[in-house]
Amino acid sequence: MMYLQHITEIDKHDDQVVIPALRRNLLNASDKLIALEPAMPGVYFDAPDIELNYDVAIVCMSGGKDSLVALKRLLDMGFPASKIEMWHHLVDGNEGSSLMDWAFIDDYCVKFSEAVGIPLYFSWLKHGFEGEMLKSDSKSHSHFIQTPEGLMELSRNSAKAGTRLKFPQQAASLQTRWCSSALKIDVGRRGITSQNRFIGKRVLFVTGERREESGNRARYNQLEPHAGDTLRKSKSPRKPRHIDAWRPVLHYSEEQVWQTLADWRLVAPVPYRLGWSRSSCQSCIFNGERIWATIGQYFPEKLKAITDYERQFNTTISRKGLTVSERAAIASPINIEDEPALMQATKREYTLPIFLPEGESWKMPAGAFGQEVSGAS
Ligand code: SF4
Repeated sequence: MMYLQHITEIDKHDDQVVIPALRRNLLNASDKLIALEPAMPGVYFDAPDIELNYDVAIVCMSGGKDSLVALKRLLDMGFPASKIEMWHHLVDGNEGSSLMDWAFIDDYCVKFSEAVGIPLYFSWLKHGFEGEMLKSDSKSHSHFIQTPEGLMELSRNSAKAGTRLKFPQQAASLQTRWCSSALKIDVGRRGITSQNRFIGKRVLFVTGERREESGNRARYNQLEPHAGDTLRKSKSPRKPRHIDAWRPVLHYSEEQVWQTLADWRLVAPVPYRLGWSRSSCQSCIFNGERIWATIGQYFPEKLKAITDYERQFNTTISRKGLTVSERAAIASPINIEDEPALMQATKREYTLPIFLPEGESWKMPAGAFGQEVSGAS
């Protein structure tokens, strides 16, 4: 059963101290070249294998191939499934918006969680991407965090009022590309700082980025203290928490990723079966022309919703000033041949198999090794 809990003191500290500090760290980090000489204890540029002496591992589960393989690697290294939990951030929130994400992705994560027997917790910014984008001289919405004890609402009353009224910009900087920080990073960090069950514990926070994906990700550290860690920030923290952020597949090639999923007999997630090379928001701001053309062909209401907002804001996602509809018109759509995946794409309930049924052979999806630009980098 779920219950709501307001933690105003934590909220105040988070909004005034922790989130601004996290943003500063992230913004600075994106400007740095390779961190060959770690500036802080516990920071390692390369750490493909680590000692797994943790009380709990939190795996950020987007439902895309890299987060699935990150979980598999943790299991293959012998970390007990009973100490793992998965967190999935609802990009569109949980209040009815469906502007950005795939309809089925939340239920896919639920069905995957049931299939592997590892608990899943949702967390989100109230009203999601759309609500944050429509902020007009207004304050940030609450965070919601599912926990083993129930649902917490963490208000943002002490945050400053602000205005967005435009899409995040296509940049490495998380200040202009605000969706990643506002909808995922901040929410995940608050999930840690708001739960007393992590105090006095060693926690491993696992994400699935890979260096191969972009020049920006090539510069990531593989192991470092998470923003919610207190032990390496202070000699005697009030709430001692050892939280390491680890990227177990940072060094993986795409080939290794698909091979891992094939060996696991995990059916390729639907976006790849449709031809997307990345599984992130369906209407990701980084989508290229061909993906917008494909969205226009098969999911026209999605293309229209984004175009309408670009016109309303008088600011397009593209720096060239073309709306996504105009960009869609200059490319040819992918010819989607995977009918079951296409049928699934518009449904909220995920009904396709998670793992391959006995006797069926694994298929490389159409989007594997694709060049079509889709998803954040
Ligand atoms: S997938 Fe794209 S649109 Fe969605 S949060 Fe990430 S960068 Fe933003």
